[in-house]
Amino acid sequence: MARAWAEIDLPAIDRNVGRIKQSLPSRIRYVAVIKADAYGHGMPEVAARLLQAGVDCFAVANVAEAARLREVGHDGDILVLSPSLPEEHDRAVHLDLDLTLNSPEEARALAAAAARAGRRAKVHIKADTGMGRAGVWHAEAPALIDFVRACADLEWRGFYTHFSEAGSDHAFTAEQRRIFLALLDAVPERERSRLMIHADNSAGLATFSADSPFNAVRVGLMQYGLPPAEGSFLESLRPEPALSFHSRVVLVKRLPAGTAVSYGRTRVLGRESRVAVVAVGYGDGVPTAASNRGYFLIRGRRCPILGRVTMDQTVVDVTEVPEAVAGDIATILGAQGADRITVEQFCSWSDCIPWEALCTLTQRVQRVYRTDRT
Ligand SMILES: *Cc1c(COP(=O)(O)O)cnc(C)c1O
Repeated sequence: MARAWAEIDLPAIDRNVGRIKQSLPSRIRYVAVIKADAYGHGMPEVAARLLQAGVDCFAVANVAEAARLREVGHDGDILVLSPSLPEEHDRAVHLDLDLTLNSPEEARALAAAAARAGRRAKVHIKADTGMGRAGVWHAEAPALIDFVRACADLEWRGFYTHFSEAGSDHAFTAEQRRIFLALLDAVPERERSRLMIHADNSAGLATFSADSPFNAVRVGLMQYGLPPAEGSFLESLRPEPALSFHSRVVLVKRLPAGTAVSYGRTRVLGRESRVAVVAVGYGDGVPTAASNRGYFLIRGRRCPILGRVTMDQTVVDVTEVPEAVAGDIATILGAQGADRITVEQFCSWSDCIPWEALCTLTQRVQRVYRTDRT
Protein backbone atom coordinates (compact mmCIF):
# COMPACT_ATOMS: atom_id res chain seq x y z
CA MET A 1 0.00 0.00 0.00
CA ALA A 2 1.26 3.46 -0.89
CA ARG A 3 1.88 6.16 1.71
CA ALA A 4 -0.23 8.67 -0.18
CA TRP A 5 -2.64 7.80 -2.92
CA ALA A 6 -5.60 9.13 -4.84
CA GLU A 7 -8.39 6.77 -5.68
CA ILE A 8 -10.05 7.58 -8.99
CA ASP A 9 -13.56 6.26 -9.47
CA LEU A 10 -13.79 5.89 -13.26
CA PRO A 11 -17.46 4.78 -13.29
CA ALA A 12 -18.29 8.06 -11.49
CA ILE A 13 -16.75 9.93 -14.43
CA ASP A 14 -18.96 7.88 -16.80
CA ARG A 15 -22.04 8.82 -14.84
CA ASN A 16 -21.07 12.50 -14.70
CA VAL A 17 -20.57 12.62 -18.47
CA GLY A 18 -23.90 10.88 -18.95
CA ARG A 19 -25.72 13.43 -16.81
CA ILE A 20 -24.06 16.39 -18.54
CA LYS A 21 -24.85 14.99 -21.99
CA GLN A 22 -28.45 14.38 -21.00
CA SER A 23 -28.81 18.00 -19.95
CA LEU A 24 -27.76 19.16 -23.45
CA PRO A 25 -29.45 18.79 -26.85
CA SER A 26 -28.02 15.74 -28.65
CA ARG A 27 -26.56 17.85 -31.47
CA ILE A 28 -24.10 19.49 -29.05
CA ARG A 29 -20.57 18.09 -29.30
CA TYR A 30 -18.82 17.31 -26.03
CA VAL A 31 -15.19 18.46 -25.87
CA ALA A 32 -13.67 16.80 -22.80
CA VAL A 33 -11.01 18.99 -21.19
CA ILE A 34 -8.16 16.82 -19.92
CA LYS A 35 -5.36 19.36 -19.46
CA ALA A 36 -3.03 19.16 -16.43
CA ASP A 37 -3.08 15.35 -16.43
CA ALA A 38 -6.88 15.32 -16.52
CA TYR A 39 -7.09 17.68 -13.54
CA GLY A 40 -4.78 15.40 -11.58
CA HIS A 41 -6.86 12.27 -12.24
CA GLY A 42 -4.35 10.79 -14.73
CA MET A 43 -4.74 11.57 -18.42
CA PRO A 44 -4.33 8.16 -20.16
CA GLU A 45 -6.82 6.31 -17.94
CA VAL A 46 -9.33 9.15 -17.89
CA ALA A 47 -9.12 9.77 -21.65
CA ALA A 48 -9.84 6.11 -22.39
CA ARG A 49 -12.80 6.12 -20.03
CA LEU A 50 -14.19 9.39 -21.40
CA LEU A 51 -14.17 7.97 -24.93
CA GLN A 52 -16.16 4.97 -23.69
CA ALA A 53 -18.57 7.41 -22.03
CA GLY A 54 -19.21 9.00 -25.42
CA VAL A 55 -17.30 12.30 -25.50
CA ASP A 56 -16.58 13.60 -29.00
CA CYS A 57 -13.05 14.94 -28.71
CA PHE A 58 -10.45 16.31 -26.30
CA ALA A 59 -8.94 19.63 -25.32
CA VAL A 60 -5.57 20.06 -23.61
CA ALA A 61 -3.52 23.09 -22.63
CA ASN A 62 -0.51 22.79 -24.92
CA VAL A 63 1.28 20.87 -27.66
CA ALA A 64 3.27 18.71 -25.21
CA GLU A 65 0.07 17.50 -23.55
CA ALA A 66 -1.45 16.80 -26.97
CA ALA A 67 1.65 14.83 -27.98
CA ARG A 68 1.28 12.67 -24.88
CA LEU A 69 -2.35 11.99 -25.78
CA ARG A 70 -1.24 10.91 -29.28
CA GLU A 71 1.42 8.66 -27.69
CA VAL A 72 -1.20 6.78 -25.70
CA GLY A 73 -2.95 6.07 -28.96
CA HIS A 74 -5.63 8.70 -29.41
CA ASP A 75 -5.94 9.52 -33.10
CA GLY A 76 -9.08 11.70 -32.96
CA ASP A 77 -9.36 15.47 -32.73
CA ILE A 78 -7.32 17.27 -30.07
CA LEU A 79 -7.81 20.99 -29.48
CA VAL A 80 -4.89 22.88 -27.92
CA LEU A 81 -6.37 25.68 -25.80
CA SER A 82 -3.40 27.93 -24.98
CA PRO A 83 -1.48 30.12 -27.45
CA SER A 84 1.40 28.28 -29.13
CA LEU A 85 4.93 29.34 -30.00
CA PRO A 86 6.45 29.19 -33.50
CA GLU A 87 8.91 26.50 -32.43
CA GLU A 88 5.97 24.23 -31.56
CA HIS A 89 4.25 24.54 -34.91
CA ASP A 90 6.10 21.88 -36.94
CA ARG A 91 5.32 19.30 -34.28
CA ALA A 92 1.70 20.45 -34.00
CA VAL A 93 1.20 20.11 -37.76
CA HIS A 94 2.90 16.71 -37.78
CA LEU A 95 0.60 15.53 -34.96
CA ASP A 96 -2.45 16.88 -36.82
CA LEU A 97 -3.60 18.96 -33.85
CA ASP A 98 -6.24 21.69 -33.82
CA LEU A 99 -4.39 24.78 -32.61
CA THR A 100 -6.02 27.89 -31.21
CA LEU A 101 -5.15 31.13 -33.01
CA ASN A 102 -4.93 34.27 -30.88
CA SER A 103 -3.09 36.71 -33.12
CA PRO A 104 -2.15 37.35 -36.76
CA GLU A 105 1.53 36.62 -35.94
CA GLU A 106 0.62 33.21 -34.58
CA ALA A 107 -1.51 32.54 -37.67
CA ARG A 108 1.33 33.49 -40.04
CA ALA A 109 3.87 31.33 -38.21
CA LEU A 110 1.55 28.33 -38.20
CA ALA A 111 0.73 28.82 -41.90
CA ALA A 112 4.46 28.79 -42.65
CA ALA A 113 4.88 25.50 -40.74
CA ALA A 114 1.94 24.01 -42.63
CA ALA A 115 3.44 25.09 -45.95
CA ARG A 116 6.77 23.47 -44.98
CA ALA A 117 4.95 20.23 -44.21
CA GLY A 118 2.89 20.40 -47.38
CA ARG A 119 -0.41 20.10 -45.53
CA ARG A 120 -3.06 22.37 -44.04
CA ALA A 121 -2.99 23.19 -40.34
CA LYS A 122 -6.30 22.88 -38.48
CA VAL A 123 -7.26 25.92 -36.44
CA HIS A 124 -9.85 27.33 -34.09
CA ILE A 125 -9.92 31.12 -33.77
CA LYS A 126 -10.40 32.34 -30.23
CA ALA A 127 -11.97 35.74 -29.56
CA ASP A 128 -11.32 37.60 -26.31
CA THR A 129 -14.78 38.94 -25.47
CA GLY A 130 -13.82 40.21 -22.01
CA MET A 131 -11.79 37.45 -20.37
CA GLY A 132 -8.66 39.54 -20.88
CA ARG A 133 -6.37 36.55 -21.30
CA ALA A 134 -5.89 34.43 -24.43
CA GLY A 135 -7.73 35.10 -27.69
CA VAL A 136 -7.65 37.94 -30.18
CA TRP A 137 -9.31 41.05 -28.74
CA HIS A 138 -12.80 41.07 -30.23
CA ALA A 139 -12.39 44.40 -32.04
CA GLU A 140 -9.42 42.90 -33.88
CA ALA A 141 -11.01 39.51 -34.52
CA PRO A 142 -12.48 40.35 -37.97
CA ALA A 143 -8.98 40.94 -39.39
CA LEU A 144 -7.75 37.59 -38.05
CA ILE A 145 -10.86 35.87 -39.40
CA ASP A 146 -10.26 37.40 -42.84
CA PHE A 147 -6.63 36.30 -42.80
CA VAL A 148 -7.49 32.71 -41.89
CA ARG A 149 -10.31 32.52 -44.46
CA ALA A 150 -7.95 33.67 -47.18
CA CYS A 151 -5.00 31.47 -46.18
CA ALA A 152 -4.65 28.26 -48.19
CA ASP A 153 -2.38 26.70 -45.57
CA LEU A 154 -4.93 26.95 -42.74
CA GLU A 155 -8.16 25.02 -42.36
CA TRP A 156 -10.63 27.02 -40.25
CA ARG A 157 -12.49 24.48 -38.13
CA GLY A 158 -13.69 26.29 -35.05
CA PHE A 159 -14.52 29.62 -33.47
CA TYR A 160 -14.74 30.16 -29.74
CA THR A 161 -14.52 32.39 -26.70
CA HIS A 162 -14.07 31.85 -22.98
CA PHE A 163 -16.06 33.23 -20.05
CA SER A 164 -14.44 34.85 -17.04
CA GLU A 165 -17.43 34.74 -14.70
CA ALA A 166 -19.92 32.23 -16.07
CA GLY A 167 -20.66 30.91 -12.61
CA SER A 168 -21.12 34.25 -10.89
CA ASP A 169 -22.12 37.10 -13.23
CA HIS A 170 -24.83 36.17 -15.69
CA ALA A 171 -25.14 39.69 -17.10
CA PHE A 172 -21.44 39.89 -17.94
CA THR A 173 -21.55 36.42 -19.44
CA ALA A 174 -24.56 37.40 -21.57
CA GLU A 175 -22.59 40.40 -22.82
CA GLN A 176 -19.65 38.14 -23.71
CA ARG A 177 -22.05 35.87 -25.61
CA ARG A 178 -23.52 38.88 -27.45
CA ILE A 179 -20.10 40.18 -28.57
CA PHE A 180 -19.12 36.70 -29.74
CA LEU A 181 -22.36 36.13 -31.66
CA ALA A 182 -22.02 39.50 -33.40
CA LEU A 183 -18.60 38.41 -34.68
CA LEU A 184 -20.07 35.12 -35.81
CA ASP A 185 -22.88 36.92 -37.67
CA ALA A 186 -20.31 38.51 -39.94
CA VAL A 187 -19.09 35.10 -41.14
CA PRO A 188 -20.78 33.87 -44.34
CA GLU A 189 -23.29 31.10 -43.65
CA ARG A 190 -21.61 28.44 -45.85
CA GLU A 191 -18.43 28.81 -43.76
CA ARG A 192 -20.19 29.15 -40.42
CA SER A 193 -22.03 25.87 -40.96
CA ARG A 194 -18.71 24.03 -41.08
CA LEU A 195 -17.39 25.48 -37.83
CA MET A 196 -17.37 24.12 -34.34
CA ILE A 197 -18.77 27.04 -32.33
CA HIS A 198 -18.22 26.94 -28.59
CA ALA A 199 -17.97 29.03 -25.46
CA ASP A 200 -19.23 27.11 -22.46
CA ASN A 201 -17.02 25.60 -19.79
CA SER A 202 -18.58 23.80 -16.83
CA ALA A 203 -19.98 26.99 -15.29
CA GLY A 204 -21.33 28.08 -18.68
CA LEU A 205 -23.54 24.98 -18.83
CA ALA A 206 -25.83 26.66 -16.29
CA THR A 207 -26.82 29.34 -18.84
CA PHE A 208 -26.45 27.30 -22.02
CA SER A 209 -29.29 27.97 -24.40
CA ALA A 210 -30.43 25.21 -26.74
CA ASP A 211 -31.55 27.62 -29.46
CA SER A 212 -28.16 29.33 -29.75
CA PRO A 213 -25.75 28.76 -32.65
CA PHE A 214 -23.30 27.07 -30.26
CA ASN A 215 -22.76 23.46 -31.26
CA ALA A 216 -20.15 22.33 -28.72
CA VAL A 217 -19.22 22.71 -25.04
CA ARG A 218 -15.82 22.36 -23.35
CA VAL A 219 -16.25 20.55 -20.07
CA GLY A 220 -13.58 20.11 -17.43
CA LEU A 221 -14.43 20.35 -13.74
CA MET A 222 -18.00 19.01 -13.91
CA GLN A 223 -17.01 15.72 -15.50
CA TYR A 224 -14.74 15.07 -12.52
CA GLY A 225 -17.80 15.53 -10.33
CA LEU A 226 -17.41 19.06 -9.02
CA PRO A 227 -19.98 21.75 -9.75
CA PRO A 228 -18.09 25.03 -10.36
CA ALA A 229 -20.59 27.17 -8.45
CA GLU A 230 -22.62 26.30 -5.42
CA GLY A 231 -26.36 26.64 -5.65
CA SER A 232 -26.47 26.48 -9.43
CA PHE A 233 -28.60 24.18 -11.55
CA LEU A 234 -25.41 22.18 -12.06
CA GLU A 235 -25.70 20.82 -8.54
CA SER A 236 -29.09 19.38 -9.49
CA LEU A 237 -27.26 17.14 -11.97
CA ARG A 238 -25.80 15.46 -8.86
CA PRO A 239 -22.20 15.20 -10.05
CA GLU A 240 -20.17 12.61 -8.15
CA PRO A 241 -16.60 13.53 -7.16
CA ALA A 242 -14.35 10.98 -8.83
CA LEU A 243 -11.22 11.55 -6.75
CA SER A 244 -10.45 10.87 -3.10
CA PHE A 245 -7.08 11.41 -1.43
CA HIS A 246 -5.65 9.29 1.38
CA SER A 247 -2.50 8.64 3.36
CA ARG A 248 -1.36 6.56 6.34
CA VAL A 249 -0.73 7.27 9.98
CA VAL A 250 2.93 6.33 10.53
CA LEU A 251 3.32 7.20 14.21
CA VAL A 252 1.04 7.80 17.20
CA LYS A 253 2.41 9.23 20.42
CA ARG A 254 1.61 11.24 23.53
CA LEU A 255 2.88 14.76 23.94
CA PRO A 256 2.69 16.76 27.18
CA ALA A 257 0.70 19.97 27.49
CA GLY A 258 2.79 22.96 26.49
CA THR A 259 4.60 21.16 23.64
CA ALA A 260 4.85 23.14 20.39
CA VAL A 261 4.03 21.11 17.30
CA SER A 262 5.99 21.28 14.00
CA TYR A 263 8.10 24.00 12.36
CA GLY A 264 7.74 27.52 13.61
CA ARG A 265 6.06 26.30 16.81
CA THR A 266 2.79 27.86 15.68
CA ARG A 267 0.67 25.55 17.82
CA VAL A 268 1.23 24.92 21.51
CA LEU A 269 -0.77 22.03 22.97
CA GLY A 270 -3.17 23.22 25.64
CA ARG A 271 -3.56 19.72 27.09
CA GLU A 272 -1.74 16.44 27.12
CA SER A 273 -2.51 15.06 23.66
CA ARG A 274 -2.27 12.00 21.50
CA VAL A 275 -1.00 13.05 18.14
CA ALA A 276 -0.71 11.12 14.88
CA VAL A 277 1.97 11.78 12.29
CA VAL A 278 0.48 11.28 8.81
CA ALA A 279 2.77 10.58 5.83
CA VAL A 280 1.51 13.41 3.67
CA GLY A 281 2.43 17.08 3.27
CA TYR A 282 2.81 19.86 0.77
CA GLY A 283 5.11 17.59 -1.25
CA ASP A 284 1.95 15.61 -1.99
CA GLY A 285 -0.56 18.42 -2.38
CA VAL A 286 -1.70 19.40 1.12
CA PRO A 287 -1.19 23.20 1.07
CA THR A 288 0.58 24.87 3.99
CA ALA A 289 -2.50 27.12 4.21
CA ALA A 290 -4.24 24.14 5.85
CA SER A 291 -1.85 24.41 8.82
CA ASN A 292 -3.80 24.71 12.10
CA ARG A 293 -7.05 24.86 10.07
CA GLY A 294 -7.83 21.65 8.21
CA TYR A 295 -8.89 18.16 9.23
CA PHE A 296 -8.10 14.61 8.16
CA LEU A 297 -10.49 11.72 8.76
CA ILE A 298 -9.08 8.86 10.84
CA ARG A 299 -11.33 5.99 11.92
CA GLY A 300 -14.20 8.04 10.50
CA ARG A 301 -13.54 10.98 12.85
CA ARG A 302 -12.35 14.52 12.11
CA CYS A 303 -8.83 15.05 13.43
CA PRO A 304 -7.61 18.67 13.40
CA ILE A 305 -4.26 19.50 11.83
CA LEU A 306 -1.81 20.67 14.50
CA GLY A 307 0.85 23.21 13.54
CA ARG A 308 2.38 23.56 10.12
CA VAL A 309 1.91 21.13 7.27
CA THR A 310 5.45 20.13 6.26
CA MET A 311 6.78 18.63 3.04
CA ASP A 312 6.36 14.97 3.96
CA GLN A 313 4.45 14.86 7.23
CA THR A 314 1.45 16.43 8.89
CA VAL A 315 0.55 16.10 12.58
CA VAL A 316 -3.09 15.71 13.62
CA ASP A 317 -4.80 15.48 17.00
CA VAL A 318 -6.14 12.00 17.78
CA THR A 319 -6.79 12.58 21.50
CA GLU A 320 -10.51 11.97 20.83
CA VAL A 321 -9.78 8.86 18.75
CA PRO A 322 -8.10 6.56 21.30
CA GLU A 323 -8.21 3.56 18.97
CA ALA A 324 -6.04 5.30 16.33
CA VAL A 325 -2.79 3.44 15.64
CA ALA A 326 0.08 3.56 13.17
CA GLY A 327 -1.07 2.06 9.89
CA ASP A 328 -4.52 3.65 9.97
CA ILE A 329 -5.78 5.34 6.83
CA ALA A 330 -6.05 9.12 6.98
CA THR A 331 -8.44 10.62 4.45
CA ILE A 332 -7.63 14.12 3.26
CA LEU A 333 -10.35 14.40 0.64
CA GLY A 334 -13.39 12.18 0.25
CA ALA A 335 -15.37 9.77 2.41
CA GLN A 336 -14.30 7.65 5.33
CA GLY A 337 -16.86 5.91 7.48
CA ALA A 338 -19.97 8.07 7.69
CA ASP A 339 -18.13 11.36 7.20
CA ARG A 340 -16.68 13.03 4.14
CA ILE A 341 -14.28 15.89 3.50
CA THR A 342 -15.63 17.71 0.48
CA VAL A 343 -13.52 19.61 -2.01
CA GLU A 344 -15.30 22.80 -0.87
CA GLN A 345 -14.20 22.19 2.73
CA PHE A 346 -10.67 21.31 1.67
CA CYS A 347 -10.55 24.52 -0.40
CA SER A 348 -11.89 26.68 2.39
CA TRP A 349 -9.08 25.74 4.78
CA SER A 350 -6.47 25.57 2.04
CA ASP A 351 -7.29 28.96 0.45
CA CYS A 352 -7.61 27.44 -3.00
CA ILE A 353 -10.18 26.75 -5.71
CA PRO A 354 -11.43 23.27 -6.69
CA TRP A 355 -9.46 23.19 -9.98
CA GLU A 356 -6.30 23.96 -8.00
CA ALA A 357 -7.00 21.40 -5.27
CA LEU A 358 -7.15 18.65 -7.88
CA CYS A 359 -4.23 19.56 -10.06
CA THR A 360 -1.76 20.29 -7.26
CA LEU A 361 -1.68 16.62 -6.21
CA THR A 362 1.90 15.71 -7.02
CA GLN A 363 3.52 12.75 -8.76
CA ARG A 364 4.29 11.23 -5.35
CA VAL A 365 0.59 10.56 -4.86
CA GLN A 366 -0.01 7.20 -6.46
CA ARG A 367 -3.15 7.06 -8.61
CA VAL A 368 -5.27 3.97 -8.02
CA TYR A 369 -8.14 3.30 -10.42
CA ARG A 370 -11.50 1.83 -9.60
CA THR A 371 -13.00 0.53 -12.78
CA ASP A 372 -16.29 -0.86 -11.48
CA ARG A 373 -18.72 -0.34 -8.67
CA THR A 374 -17.76 -2.30 -5.60
C1 LIG B 1 -9.80 24.82 -18.64
C2 LIG B 1 -10.69 25.34 -19.71
C3 LIG B 1 -12.00 24.85 -19.87
C4 LIG B 1 -12.65 23.92 -18.87
O1 LIG B 1 -13.09 24.66 -17.77
P1 LIG B 1 -13.88 23.99 -16.54
O2 LIG B 1 -14.24 25.15 -15.69
O3 LIG B 1 -12.92 23.08 -15.86
O4 LIG B 1 -15.05 23.27 -17.10
C5 LIG B 1 -12.72 25.29 -20.96
N1 LIG B 1 -12.20 26.18 -21.84
C6 LIG B 1 -10.95 26.69 -21.71
C7 LIG B 1 -10.46 27.67 -22.69
C8 LIG B 1 -10.17 26.30 -20.64
O5 LIG B 1 -8.94 26.82 -20.50
